[in-house]
This record gives sequence, structure tokens and C-alpha cells, in this order.
Amino acid sequence: MSNRTLAIIKPDGVQKNLIGQIITKITEAGFKIKAIKMVRLTKDSAGGFYEVHKGKFFFEGLIEYMTSGPCVPIALEKENAVADFRKLIGTTDPALADKGTIRKLYAASKAENVIHGSDSDENAAIEIAHFFSRKELLENSVS
Ligand code: UDP
Ligand code: MG
Repeated sequence: MSNRTLAIIKPDGVQKNLIGQIITKITEAGFKIKAIKMVRLTKDSAGGFYEVHKGKFFFEGLIEYMTSGPCVPIALEKENAVADFRKLIGTTDPALADKGTIRKLYAASKAENVIHGSDSDENAAIEIAHFFSRKELLENSVS
């Protein structure tokens, strides 16, 4: 699974009608879309996805936010995908993010920051599997 990462256009990105602009940034940066869908997360699904943050002060707000509307998970492929994608989206807090990054351009706050990117190859594999089956990733040819 190395060379892959999971992006999510978060509910604020969808709500602000930014799906097209964000995907353009992603593909212009050289990422290939392996699979994409629009889903509304349940509290259980969002809680499982962000399990590592359980107990932190922002966890409840994060689950509220991530279940507030549909989001768009995208499985991406590129050499050095995880690190390059983190660079493309910028730091968690958009106020501190580099100029031209997706969060700097579009995010409102550290909490509502329009996009997710996996932080390691190991988590990329887990996170891609959270949203996509092997069939959806076109990894087998059975219809
Ligand atoms: N978050 C928040 N407050 C914080 C830190 C994080 O609301 O102080 C939210 C924010 O939406 C962030 C997500 O929780 O993107 C996951 O946090 P993480 O530290 O993993 O940041 P990321 O990897 O998304 O940059
Ligand atoms: Mg993270």
C-alpha cells in the first residue's frame, strides 16, 4: 500500500461547494484518483476513523463536525503519496499553513480545516480500507 494515501474532503469543504476546486489542486499536484465516493459518516464510523484522538478535548467536536454532512473520501496514488499530500494540504491549523496549501486557501479554522490526509503508510492502508473495498479499488476484476 505504500505510494497511497487517503484524502477526505470534509463536510465543510462539501458544504462550501469546494469539491471541484480541491480535486483540481490534488490532480494538478500529480496524484491519481484510485477510488472516490460521497458518504455521510455515522458517529460510530467517524469515531472509529478517529479512534486515535478518543479522549482528547476536541474529540466530541470532531465527531460532530465529521458527521454534520456528507464528505468525500478519495484513495490517491503517487510516489511518496503520504508526505507529498500532507505538504499539499498544509498544517492542521490553516493560520500556520504555507501559502498555496489547500488548508491555507480554503479552511476556516484548526477544527474545520476542509481536508484530511493520512499521516503514515500504515495508517493510509487502514484508512483506505475504512472506506473502500478491494473491488472499489479495482484490485480485482470480478464484477
Ligand atoms: N482538530 C481539532 N482541534 C485540534 C486538533 C485537531 O478540532 O486542536 C481536528 C481537526 O479537524 C484535525 C482533526 O481533528 O484535522 C485530526 O487532528 P490531527 O491532529 O490528526 O490533525 P491532521 O492530521 O488532520 O492535520
Ligand atoms: Mg491526523
